[in-house]
Amino acid sequence: MFLQVMWKIIFRVLVAIFLFEGFLWGVEAEKEIPILCYHRFGAKVNDSMTIKTSVFAEQLAWLKSNNYKVISLENAIKYLKGEIKTIPDRSVVITVDDGHRSVYSDMAPLVKKYAIPVTLFIYPSAISNAAYAMTWKQLQELEATTFFRIESHTYWHPNFKHEKKKLSSEKYKKLVGLQLAGAKQKLEEKMGHKVKYLAWPFGIYDKELEEQAVQAGYVAALTIDRRHARQSDPIMALPRYMIVSRYRIFTFGSIVKGEME
Ligand SMILES: [Zn+2]
Repeated sequence: MFLQVMWKIIFRVLVAIFLFEGFLWGVEAEKEIPILCYHRFGAKVNDSMTIKTSVFAEQLAWLKSNNYKVISLENAIKYLKGEIKTIPDRSVVITVDDGHRSVYSDMAPLVKKYAIPVTLFIYPSAISNAAYAMTWKQLQELEATTFFRIESHTYWHPNFKHEKKKLSSEKYKKLVGLQLAGAKQKLEEKMGHKVKYLAWPFGIYDKELEEQAVQAGYVAALTIDRRHARQSDPIMALPRYMIVSRYRIFTFGSIVKGEME
């Protein structure tokens, strides 16, 4: 009799543990992801969008020592869309807009040292053309390291707000279509892989632009709205934090932790 009771109790405890575990797995709290947006790096800070290379190194060291894990934009987007169920705790994404040369000269050595994935949003008109921009060869070299991935920032980085005011609605729509599809096609041809993601130039977007981006074949698009990305966010307007030169490491940490807007 005593043994029977004991077994019953043990059985119940085991069932309870099993259910509780299942409960924990089933309702794992949704993770919110800080997606960071950089532009340029350098030994000297000339403007708000240039991050001192030593400061960037300090930020990467901060992420590492605070147990943050830099994940690829691809995995973040799959998680936000519910295509993968989980990502590491303290996930963070690093992106860089515009294809500035300092990505190759200053940023890449640190990216290799920390072995982290980085997405570059490129507008093809500048590449192998503008003095400040990287060449196609440099972009291919960066992708060959496997740490970098090239995605789209439209063809020549237009200000869609200005263009909308200037052009007839028909011409405007045509321009947007060419900017979105043209960049995708050129980047795919040069990089030899599908281009799926878009960063809105100047962070400008609206419903009409989002629809055209879907039509052009983009899977997700990013803004510079300052908050963590959540599964409830519109997939064609995911938020990112622009990182600027005046941030001290304390501010950087607060942004990543979601303590400030
Ligand atoms: Zn840009």
